[in-house]
Amino acid sequence: MRHRVQAVIGHSTDEAVFWLRQGEPVALPTETVYGLAAPLDRLDIIHKIYALKQRPADNPLIVHVLDCDQLQEVAQCSPKALHLAEKFWPGPLTLVLPKKPCVPDIVTAGQPTVAVRAPQTALFREVIQKIGVPLVAPSANKFQHVSPTTAHQVYRDMGDVLHYILDGGACRFGVESTILSLLDERHPQLLRYGPIAKETLETFLGQSIETVSHAPQTGAHLSPGLYKKHYSPQTPLYLVDDLANYQPSGGLRDAFAKNAAHVFLFPPERHLQKGEFVLSEHSDLQEVAMRLFAIISELDAAHYDAIWIEKAPAKDIGNAINDRLSRAAHFDLRAK
Ligand code: AMP
Ligand code: MG
Repeated sequence: MRHRVQAVIGHSTDEAVFWLRQGEPVALPTETVYGLAAPLDRLDIIHKIYALKQRPADNPLIVHVLDCDQLQEVAQCSPKALHLAEKFWPGPLTLVLPKKPCVPDIVTAGQPTVAVRAPQTALFREVIQKIGVPLVAPSANKFQHVSPTTAHQVYRDMGDVLHYILDGGACRFGVESTILSLLDERHPQLLRYGPIAKETLETFLGQSIETVSHAPQTGAHLSPGLYKKHYSPQTPLYLVDDLANYQPSGGLRDAFAKNAAHVFLFPPERHLQKGEFVLSEHSDLQEVAMRLFAIISELDAAHYDAIWIEKAPAKDIGNAINDRLSRAAHFDLRAK
């Protein structure tokens, strides 16, 4: 058993590098969510990441590089892959490509492919530069918990097992990267919705992209347990289409009314009441994404009996928001 530690939240990349050299994973800010990082060549620390997160070994990690040069050290790149990387990096686009031998099996869950991206935040990039090799970094939360978008959220979930959390403020995007597989160049596949919309990639590539559905079923009914769970708060989370006009029926009346938090994406056309929250005062989907995980995590800690939240319009980053909400939801009450 690992003895308990108490993480320090700080602003020093030197300190982060110090702990990595000591054999400890550190939490680092990216523009998507906070990551739990280890150098690609430190199997000992990578093993610790799986253990501390309680992450199943068949769930591969994303390799974070500085640029296209470092990309080519870890993956076989076609002109199309380089073209995408040059356009969208540094940024929230992860590319799945054939791996090079230097990438250990534990990172790819034994697959011959590797997922790679270049993060945008100066702090993360500085740590890669100082360490001199790419860093693997899954989100800095325990398996199936909500991804952290602030240093304090990392501390709440993992502060007792980490030594250092590098604080870069709130993550700009707030949802994990878009993942695009280029294994079959003629048929690129979207493996995860994220901040860069599928349509943006299609326009850039001049070809259509298939969405590979690990996506939860978008059902019409009360469907507890139907979803591939992820990002789950402890408090039951109900997902609805239009919260302002939602009329609960039957057994849902209590869950809707008694000690429940109601989360609007945009301001409703009336004053907010106690227990009501708005994710973006400016009706900006980007801001909704940025605040989404933080509010779920805060309300989860605030002892409500239920959290009710509405889904986003299915455009731009709205698809990523809905994907995460569906996986977090215990009950999906959306209309067909
Ligand atoms: P995260 O949990 O946010 O760190 O993201 C890691 C995710 O990236 C995994 O759960 C996979 O969905 C995806 N991923 C990583 N490596 C690969 C790979 N080689 N092939 C396909 N997907 C991958
Ligand atoms: Mg994660």
